[in-house]
Amino acid sequence: MFTPAELLEINTLLIPENKIVILTHYNPDGDAIGSSLGLKHYLHAKGINAEVVVPNDFPKFLKWMPEARKNVVAEYKRKVAFDIINEADVIFCLDFNSPARIGILGEWLVKATGKKILIDHHQQPEQFDYVYSDTVIPATCQMVYHFIEAMNDEHLVNKDIAECLYTGIMTDTGGFRFRSTSAATHRIIANLIEKGADPSMITSNTWDTNTVSRLHLLALILGRIEVVNEGKVAVLYLTRKELQEYGFQKGDTEGFVNYGLSIVGVRMSAFFMEDLYDDFIKISFRSKDDVDVNQFSRKYFSGGGHINAAGGKSNASLQDTLENFKAKVEEETLSLNLNS
Ligand code: 5GP
Ligand code: MN
Repeated sequence: MFTPAELLEINTLLIPENKIVILTHYNPDGDAIGSSLGLKHYLHAKGINAEVVVPNDFPKFLKWMPEARKNVVAEYKRKVAFDIINEADVIFCLDFNSPARIGILGEWLVKATGKKILIDHHQQPEQFDYVYSDTVIPATCQMVYHFIEAMNDEHLVNKDIAECLYTGIMTDTGGFRFRSTSAATHRIIANLIEKGADPSMITSNTWDTNTVSRLHLLALILGRIEVVNEGKVAVLYLTRKELQEYGFQKGDTEGFVNYGLSIVGVRMSAFFMEDLYDDFIKISFRSKDDVDVNQFSRKYFSGGGHINAAGGKSNASLQDTLENFKAKVEEETLSLNLNS
């Protein structure tokens, strides 16, 4: 948590006269949107307005969240987004650790003069004016709740805040399953339910949203899932042509990489997807226990994230990327702890 002195300083910044913006990472997920909107509704409950600016659009299954459609999407409203960041007195940075993670907003953030406040759970955070970083906490939404507690404002938590924070905790813990899910997580979830978050509504709006195209894509990749490295590593992929054929929409492949990890004996899963428009491959890594995909992705695929969930990219062809990946995994079997 921020130190008591920092909290006092932050408190003096949170006044109606100040312009406040909340930024989150590229390809925003449930935790990114949930924490940003949760914080926005909290500030609103304190009588302070804030704007959420996201680098690019986010999936439909996150747009049910209160005021999600008011988010400024920089890829569509570049000038508006630039002005908001440039003129802000306070810039909250949620669910990312480096300006490199927020696309075009990164350049603007670096040049902006507003006070930069980081709340994030990714590894190796960079420099900000105020940093609340904790890589053990499963979701930035949980950290926003801890921040509200530290500000002695728990009584302000309302239904809007509760729904947003519940969603991000639910998605970033894979439905309260991942390792960092703790008793504290569940206590907060219980509080959020008491404040009006409805678990069945949230689950159904966020997860029971399959389209036929998504299920067909899933069937396709499950049909050719490959397990290498003596059964320890699962490999999945999708080509651009396939995405086009199946009418891919943003968010359609969310969670696919987890199927690899559900195979008995598999300790690391990697999902490779050709980008629909640009010539690069987006990669998602997931792992179990002490298999550190954050380090692996930083070293070989210009990425990063968490120990058990990271992303990366490759500019080589899909085939070369897959071969390179298998070779690197073979090479790093020991350092990845694949056999332990
Ligand atoms: P996903 O596989 O869901 O895209 O990402 C998994 C985790 O890694 C998320 O926490 C995400 O923020 C992070 N991540 C995804 N792509 C990148 C990347 O290119 N660089 C870094 N540093 N982190 C990433
Ligand atoms: Mn997160």
